[in-house]
Amino acid sequence: MFITRYIKEVWGAVKSLTTGMKRTLYYFTHHKEIITEQYPDNRDTLVLPDRFKGEVVMPHNESNEHRCTGCTACELACPNGTIKVITRFDITPEGKKKKAIDKLVYHLELCTMCGLCIEACPSDAIKMAQTFEHSVFDRNKLTKVLNNPDSKIMEGVE
Ligand code: SF4
Ligand code: SF4
Repeated sequence: MFITRYIKEVWGAVKSLTTGMKRTLYYFTHHKEIITEQYPDNRDTLVLPDRFKGEVVMPHNESNEHRCTGCTACELACPNGTIKVITRFDITPEGKKKKAIDKLVYHLELCTMCGLCIEACPSDAIKMAQTFEHSVFDRNKLTKVLNNPDSKIMEGVE
């Protein structure tokens, strides 16, 4: 009969709603058990897994020095042309020509985070960072120069 079916359906809906509300109320009073985190509210406390890869970066020390020799091994190892190493020749105090990096251009929008460039680098000059908020309106902003302006190679790195 129609009315019986209607009452059954309403009863089913109320039961289901109560079950959901019970779970909601439980977590409302048991905050510590909540696993799901609310991003971006948790930005300051967010802990990413060690193996998370966000982008390739080139660390510099406090004297604005990096470890890149401009050998281009990373560029050759990259399977999709994400890295372009532009080199120049510097003159050493002894008057000799020495290859140096001018710009290491990195196209984040192409990077698959495979890590092959980092493995290939003989000088430990690049690494993966865990930064991940990369959304931009202008795609060109995803093309980055990894070496800082006016930076130079660290003493002793060949
Ligand atoms: S992580 Fe992979 S895709 Fe990205 S720059 Fe390095 S080699 Fe290329
Ligand atoms: S980052 Fe490493 S592999 Fe790439 S050019 Fe510099 S030294 Fe060579």
